[in-house]
Amino acid sequence: MIDILEFTLERLIKTFDKDFGKGRFHARALFRDIFKQGNKNFLLSPEFLDSPKFARALEGKVSVAPGDVVKTFDEGELTKFITRLWDGLEIESVVIPMTRHNTLCVSSQVGCKMGCKFCETGRMGFKRNLSISEIVGQVYNARHYLGKDIKNIVFMGMGEPLDNFDNLMGAILVMNEQQGFDIALRHMTLSTVGLVPGIEKLGKMKMPGLRLAISINAPDDVIRSQLMPVNKRFPLAALKKSLEDFPLPKRGIFLFEYILIKGFNDSLAHADMLADFITPLPVRLNLIAYNPVKGLDLQSPCDGDMHSFADLLSAKGIMVIKRWSRGRSVAAGCGQLGKHI
Ligand code: SF4
Repeated sequence: MIDILEFTLERLIKTFDKDFGKGRFHARALFRDIFKQGNKNFLLSPEFLDSPKFARALEGKVSVAPGDVVKTFDEGELTKFITRLWDGLEIESVVIPMTRHNTLCVSSQVGCKMGCKFCETGRMGFKRNLSISEIVGQVYNARHYLGKDIKNIVFMGMGEPLDNFDNLMGAILVMNEQQGFDIALRHMTLSTVGLVPGIEKLGKMKMPGLRLAISINAPDDVIRSQLMPVNKRFPLAALKKSLEDFPLPKRGIFLFEYILIKGFNDSLAHADMLADFITPLPVRLNLIAYNPVKGLDLQSPCDGDMHSFADLLSAKGIMVIKRWSRGRSVAAGCGQLGKHI
């Protein structure tokens, strides 16, 4: 079976050519129908009606299977949707409206192995990796089922993207395909907890412009290991070394995400240590107010503490953006995905 959502155009042309002795013209038509127009009945499009023999040959051999959207939740313009996969497992994705377009927060695994303490997905445990088609299918459903114009992708949904490395890279290539979704690499951000081997592997890929975000959340190893078990395997010094060696493009920056938790990692002393860790890496820091997760004894920070924390970092020359998380009421905020499945 040819699962179209796993294919770049070039690969589809080669596959058609090899399997059916025909290629470029029909592959292009099929790409336009499926990726641009969301038309799963592509065999009824003029190019295939004009080639009935070829259309018959394709029948039952090509599938478009993005999974079924079974539920949506709205908070203003923000939409969280749940996709049921072929085996009954479910994933969550979030469409986040920006000024001129929408960003889609994409999941890469069902559940997650990383067990970050502040995260609902981490508490689900790990079920399985998503296939290329299941990752790309989230863009397909956002565009063609929900009708949202998706221009930006953040791999910050359920799962650790670098823990599903090959499928993630495959999905990025399909999303980037010009004849398909045509989402530029510089409009995609991959967020990791800091799997050092994955960061090193990513550095060797030819993915110019793809943005790397690090979920940092603590200024030292003691606090980070309490929040994020992965830190025991890859402590901050190892993480920093992998970032120093990472081949950033000229004027490129890393995004750091720091979830601020009241009384845990939000003091000025913590901000000071964090500044020391960041320097001299080129970093833009997103400071995110913790989203409460039921059953966890962690609290959102006070607004005043968040401002003071940010001000200290700014005074040390670090670019900081404060974010009071959106989507809280529908559990679509950072660390909350998994609540509705
Ligand atoms: S924050 Fe990300 S990496 Fe950590 S448990 Fe949640 S989904 Fe996994």
